Amino acid sequence: MLLDYHMHLQSDFDYTPFTYDLANLDQYLAQARQRGITEIGISEHCHRFREFKPLLFFLTEEPGAYPVVQNFLRPAFRDHLPQYIDFLERVKASGRPVKAGLEVDYIEGQSERLASILAGTTFDYLLGSVHFVGKWAVDIEDEATWNERGANRIFLEYFQTWANACASGLFDIMTHPDLPKKFNHRPSSSLWQELTAMAAEAAAKAKVAIEVNSAGLRKPVGEIYPDQQLLQAFCRAGVPIAFGSDAHQSHEAGMDIDRASVWAVQAGYTTVTRFSTRRPTQVPIG
Ligand SMILES: [Zn+2]
Ligand SMILES: [Zn+2]
Repeated sequence: MLLDYHMHLQSDFDYTPFTYDLANLDQYLAQARQRGITEIGISEHCHRFREFKPLLFFLTEEPGAYPVVQNFLRPAFRDHLPQYIDFLERVKASGRPVKAGLEVDYIEGQSERLASILAGTTFDYLLGSVHFVGKWAVDIEDEATWNERGANRIFLEYFQTWANACASGLFDIMTHPDLPKKFNHRPSSSLWQELTAMAAEAAAKAKVAIEVNSAGLRKPVGEIYPDQQLLQAFCRAGVPIAFGSDAHQSHEAGMDIDRASVWAVQAGYTTVTRFSTRRPTQVPIG
């Protein structure tokens, strides 16, 4: 089976109200089907929803905020989470092979607040994403900060945060595990060895799945997240996987999931994880 559990129905810089539009969703579904995907999951960014503003407010309104982050997040938080959940429930009730997900930012020290925002929600799975280390976004291009801090320090801080996100117990699937490589930055090989061991141990202990995310192929790095070394470490540690294209437009739905599946098989995987009401089951890849 091929699945794609990571899709956004609007682009990141489209701040118009969320389109509860079945025709738009059907375009994603049709495109994914053409690529051999039998089930998709919608996983909108949490910053679309006003319920998450208290969680992310510090990124834009506290001292030390980064202007690029302010520009990105200030116009967000426009939609209502219950409406989004209702929309996905209607989609599922119609018989479409769609799962209800959400891509949620992990913020260090804010797990209790996040748990209370998520309490009572009825998703099939929650994606746990680390986009922010402190107030800085690793996935928005900012060469000056890379030069100032250095790749080793950024990767180390990123993976410490990522391991804490696993341990929080809030998430089912940890997304794009080596996101800091997006703009082609890499840590030293000795540090990378340490970080792969640390990440595999954290994910295994927390019993989360990790995402094999094909969007890296469309970024400057030109490589699936995670790299082979890290994916093999996850496999050896018994960490299950999910697949995601991270589509932000319908033509990207299911894009390169075939390559992600080959990547996973190469690392030793034979199964991929399906989720229903946050309960995982394993199905054969392919
Ligand atoms: Zn993400
Ligand atoms: Zn995403």
